[in-house]
Amino acid sequence: MHVAGALHADATTPAPVWLTRPEDVNSLTAKLWSETVTRGEDGVISVGGIRLTDLAEQVGTPAYVIDEVDFRSRAHDWREAFAGWTVYYAGKSFLCGTVARWAAEQGLNLDVCSLGELTVALRAGFDPARIGMHGNNKSEAELRLALERGVGRIIVDSSDEITRLENLCAELDTTARVMIRVTTGVEAHTHEYIATAHEDQKFGFSIAGGQALVGLFRCHHSPRLQLLGVHSHIGSQIFDTNGFEVAARRTLKLFSQFKEATGLELAELDLGGGFGIAYTKEDTPATPNELARGLRDIVEHECRGFGLNAPAISIEPGRAIVGPSGLALYRVGTVKPVDVGNGMNRRYISVDGGMSDNIRPALYAAEYSAALASRSSAAEPVVSRVVGLHCEGGDILVRDEFLPGDVAIGDLIAVPAAGAYSRSMASNYNHTPRPPVVSVRDGKVRTMLRRETLDDLLALDAEVSENEEPNG
Ligand SMILES: *Cc1c(COP(=O)(O)O)cnc(C)c1O
Repeated sequence: MHVAGALHADATTPAPVWLTRPEDVNSLTAKLWSETVTRGEDGVISVGGIRLTDLAEQVGTPAYVIDEVDFRSRAHDWREAFAGWTVYYAGKSFLCGTVARWAAEQGLNLDVCSLGELTVALRAGFDPARIGMHGNNKSEAELRLALERGVGRIIVDSSDEITRLENLCAELDTTARVMIRVTTGVEAHTHEYIATAHEDQKFGFSIAGGQALVGLFRCHHSPRLQLLGVHSHIGSQIFDTNGFEVAARRTLKLFSQFKEATGLELAELDLGGGFGIAYTKEDTPATPNELARGLRDIVEHECRGFGLNAPAISIEPGRAIVGPSGLALYRVGTVKPVDVGNGMNRRYISVDGGMSDNIRPALYAAEYSAALASRSSAAEPVVSRVVGLHCEGGDILVRDEFLPGDVAIGDLIAVPAAGAYSRSMASNYNHTPRPPVVSVRDGKVRTMLRRETLDDLLALDAEVSENEEPNG
């Protein structure tokens, strides 16, 4: 995020200072794009061996495109870098049957946090023993399914949930493997973290308030619960290990308090997800290897400090695996120069998607990049704002980006790093059917999630689902 940054003083278009004018507006910055993305001789961007112009013909726009080779190699890199630890892919970032299968094939475990996500994983044949179940208000139906199918761990979030789980276990005459989600007081976001964040939020048991230790004792003494350890998740879009260091110290101190009281060492620690990716040229995420080295040092150091054996560690990257693998493809519908005062103009490029397929800019002021995908251009780069078609002023997809000055109706715009939290957070605002998600590899396009149709949406409407259009 680069919210409310200073503006270029000399510009005729208002643009934040961090946004630098590209030497070549056609060049693609490698860290923003998935592995197989290239701009061909003819100027058209390709991914997975498919020209985006051909892909748009085939599946229409808007569409999400996932680079299978990139997803698999990223999953592989995380697993290799953290060998000896367990890597859970955070399904909430993007989950469908194909992605569940890919994650399994790449040796990842899987986190889910709803009945829907759990059902997708189970139907995809994902080994339940390798699934972690999250959520601060899990329903009885969710917990029941998790128990019946033998989900590997349930991350409990409240004492009410402990009671609910114990009752269900008694009813089903089974036991549950649980971790306690704790609040460490560390709040990490983008380039900064706050180590003494106040704990006024809904997740977990507070360490500082003492509830975490009470929750651990309760699970430890429950005949129905098998206590595995502690879970901490400190935020999202995190670029360094400072926040994890403080969180690890506070959670391992809790381990040592538990040991003092019971004589036992907890077996598992989960450090959560939140590893950042590059959405703009400004973002410089660490590699999985750098993060792994940092996190291993931290855990080793803190365990030594508290005289603990190193527990089994797990992490839960979501965005860092699927985010860079995906791009969103849109078609330009209108281009409008707008006089914004002080002699400045802003160029609004409206595309055929918007906040219904990517809510993050509206929700978090998240920044994205964009490129003209259907051709290269010799025109001068112009600061542009890519906006959607929804009835909201805040319906922005890319707040500020240099795009060629001749972008016109019918051009394709590609937005990189759109694999995570775009389709998974998509809505039907304005009765907009959600775009499809396709995977590309070796010149082949495969549908992972088909495009929604108006009939899909209207099927829910009690009055009009059966009606014909007046002149239809
Ligand atoms: C959201 C979430 C993750 C994944 O976060 P990313 O930013 O996608 O890595 C992991 N664990 C928990 C508990 C989460 O809530």
